Amino acid sequence: MATVRIPATQQSFRVGKVVCLGRNYAEHIRELNNPVPDRPVLFIKPATSIIPSGGTVVIPAYSNDCHHEVELAVLIGCPAKNLSTDRAMECVAGYGVAVDLTLRDVQSKLKTRGLPWEVAKGFDTACPLSDFVPADRIADPQDLQLRLKVNGEVRQEGSTALMLRRLPEILAEISAIFTLEPGDVVLTGTPAGVGPLRSGDRVEAEIDALVELSVTVA
Ligand code: ZN
Repeated sequence: MATVRIPATQQSFRVGKVVCLGRNYAEHIRELNNPVPDRPVLFIKPATSIIPSGGTVVIPAYSNDCHHEVELAVLIGCPAKNLSTDRAMECVAGYGVAVDLTLRDVQSKLKTRGLPWEVAKGFDTACPLSDFVPADRIADPQDLQLRLKVNGEVRQEGSTALMLRRLPEILAEISAIFTLEPGDVVLTGTPAGVGPLRSGDRVEAEIDALVELSVTVA
């Protein structure tokens, strides 16, 4: 059972599901030669894929190419179905940082065959996730700097200002399909710079000076 925390308010939430949006930054879409989607590309990571900061990533034996994707994580604070874009942000309890680990070799095969991605994105340890900052402490969630380092070297850096779909629209579209519950987490896509991880790597993700996350690869 995965739980996440907002240390500033001493709240903790049991995570039900992690709903993820793909292809939400133009530079990342280009680096993987994907088309810009007219409908959101959505998938779900099970709560069992979450590991906290300090945890260890175990790359499954069926992959030789596990990529990091740093993403803004949105913690849902109230039950939400069919949110309007006007009111969607009222359901956000906090913001954190996540790494959407993706077995790129496995995902590429699934994509070409038109098969679902869970085997490439939902495996145990596939979702390193930080603690959360209360939503009311963030003046503008579309002006946050995401950063990911591997062994101290910056590999990904990008502003949430560059999202193609912004948060109200993302939450409205997701909640029209999946009822969101308190403790659910939404991942909002990755900026450019994704790349492979190797055994022994230390992966650090952060948003400005707000939240940070550090995991190692077994
Ligand atoms: Zn992603």
